[in-house]
Amino acid sequence: MSVTVEITNISRASLHDGPGIRTVVYFKGCSLKCLWCHNPETISKNDEILYTPIKCIHCGRCIKICPENHKIEGNDMVLLRENCKRCKECVKNCPTGALASSKKQTTVAEVVKELMKDIHYYRQNGGITLSGGECLLQADACKEILEECKKEDIHTAIETALNVPWGNIEKVLPFCDLFFADLKILNSKKHKEFTGSENGLILENLKKLVDSGAKVTVRIPLIPTVNDSEEDIKLFAAFLCDFASRLCGIEVLRYNNLAESKYLILGKEFTDFGTPQSDDELKSFCSRLDTSLKNETTVYCIL
Ligand code: SF4
Ligand code: SF4
Repeated sequence: MSVTVEITNISRASLHDGPGIRTVVYFKGCSLKCLWCHNPETISKNDEILYTPIKCIHCGRCIKICPENHKIEGNDMVLLRENCKRCKECVKNCPTGALASSKKQTTVAEVVKELMKDIHYYRQNGGITLSGGECLLQADACKEILEECKKEDIHTAIETALNVPWGNIEKVLPFCDLFFADLKILNSKKHKEFTGSENGLILENLKKLVDSGAKVTVRIPLIPTVNDSEEDIKLFAAFLCDFASRLCGIEVLRYNNLAESKYLILGKEFTDFGTPQSDDELKSFCSRLDTSLKNETTVYCIL
């Protein structure tokens, strides 16, 4: 349990990350860079300084500590990130938490201790979910956390894009009750354009995971103009049809642009893919996918 693990945070009482009430561990670092990512602070392995202007009381401490990288512009403190050495002195001295750091280095033992706080909820209806970022980049830590939870008979789930070596997935197989596997774009060139990586490894891993007998729910994040056309439905169905009947289901997730503020806090550019789908648009996509898959599995709209 002394294995170190890099996370951004642990979030309790989630209702969207598996059956029942979940505590979710967000791992730091991902092998994809999806332009619509809702958790941009988890993408980089590196620590990053987060600056939330609304929490700033203009006390000037950060400017005294590091005048190179902080300055007042009009009424606002501005963080200049180019020459930041990530020493975190400004973070330690900021009295309001306006400056914060995106990475927590901790141990499996500490994470498990935190997870066990909600054991009474899990026993009734719920469990724990490892997410990210890509949690399976830290497969040894995942395995140990899940193994400890299974000793207490806690339901375990993993949210993954599967863009990792198969060996990483194999390590957690005996201890994971349910995988949520993202499926974003079937055309590999297009996948690279929007996520920074081709999709060969992901597709191969998804087939292997289903063949292993693991319980798998496929999740399709529906992104306007990116993967929501009739052609995309045909490609999704053609790929999924061989094993759809062995899935726990397919969840289609509505696009939303609520993460914009997270990009601002990180000092990163936000890509807006437009208006989120209406309920009818989402239901129509799900029903067409369902028909193309000849009702071999259930396609759920996540409204
Ligand atoms: S983390 Fe260190 S180098 Fe970066 S802005 Fe803060 S004090 Fe300056
Ligand atoms: S130390 Fe924190 S509260 Fe004070 S000026 Fe800097 S960011 Fe704002």
